[in-house]
Amino acid sequence: MLDIKIIENDKTWELPEESKLGFGRYFTNHMFIMDYNKEQGWHDARIVPFGNISLHPASTVLHYGAEIFEGLKAYRRLSDGKVQLFRPLENIRRMNVSAERLCLPTIPEEDALQCYTEFICHEQAWVPKTEGTSLYIRPFMFGNDPYLGVHGVNEAVFMIIASPSGSYYKEGINPVKIMIEGEDVRAVKGGTGHIKCGGNYAASTRAGDKAEKQGYSQVLWLDGVERKYIEEVGAMNVMFKINGEIVTPALSGSILPGITRKSCIEVLSDMGYTVSERRLSVDELFAAMENGTLEEAWGTGTAAVVSPIGELRYGDVCYTVNGGKIGTVTQTLYDTLTGIQWGKIADNKGWTYEI
Ligand SMILES: *Cc1c(COP(=O)(O)O)cnc(C)c1O
Repeated sequence: MLDIKIIENDKTWELPEESKLGFGRYFTNHMFIMDYNKEQGWHDARIVPFGNISLHPASTVLHYGAEIFEGLKAYRRLSDGKVQLFRPLENIRRMNVSAERLCLPTIPEEDALQCYTEFICHEQAWVPKTEGTSLYIRPFMFGNDPYLGVHGVNEAVFMIIASPSGSYYKEGINPVKIMIEGEDVRAVKGGTGHIKCGGNYAASTRAGDKAEKQGYSQVLWLDGVERKYIEEVGAMNVMFKINGEIVTPALSGSILPGITRKSCIEVLSDMGYTVSERRLSVDELFAAMENGTLEEAWGTGTAAVVSPIGELRYGDVCYTVNGGKIGTVTQTLYDTLTGIQWGKIADNKGWTYEI
């Protein structure tokens, strides 16, 4: 057990009404911090007033991008008002995989779970109440050595901040328009595509901006070598229903292993679908759109849970998916996962974790 010190914030602040929260703009009035160095290991776990932190100007994270993060939500159950998380151990394990790849220190699973639960318990009054809202939890870690030599990390910081966030689908679930990116690539095998690190996001912003200027909300990434196989959409995994078969790109090493993806695969198999985790080329996808066998397409990720795709563009070719409407499989997945998360339907999978 870690000894987590608490310094209460004597300030607090008002939030806008729950319908105006948006995403990631407001924060609770505390944050969690824990330090690491080679001699002491992880130490000084503490919950302190939310505020700026100061860094040495040579700090590793500022020069060499040694930064990893996670994203999960705390939900207030509609049934009894209690607060719960969705599969938090999956986030904890994935962060350790990310840490290992970037030579950052790992955190023992039970210690990380204690950090999550004590911090979220302390901040639980900030979990909004309306259906669709949540407290977005952002654990992150960065290398913090105070010198410029390139090397594995000797000092690191682990933090958790929390942001009361509004419903992702305020105006109902609207299918999104996606543009296939043919120039920039997000990741290659052997690189960092399979972990959640800030650097991946820095490198993918340009394509996202370009798509947005043309009226598309996300980019669909192709593999970095042949630029032929579908990988992910924006910061979501992607799934298609083609001629009755559910297809999702296999975790090839350059794709982020999403927890929503994994959960969707389980729910789909409960529904009687076999999910093919395999390679899917743009050619195959466009052939399916041309001959009318692409029935549904959707992205999966913690923020939106399930996001239907209504239009796909690649260069000058553009197709509408399912008449630009949400399909029945997409809708069922959304209802099942959010039903479990907001405590509307029974969790018989042990996915929820009560705080
Ligand atoms: C976080 C993330 C996802 C989705 O993962 P979830 O665990 O489902 O939230 C997918 N792709 C990328 C690139 C991501 O960073």
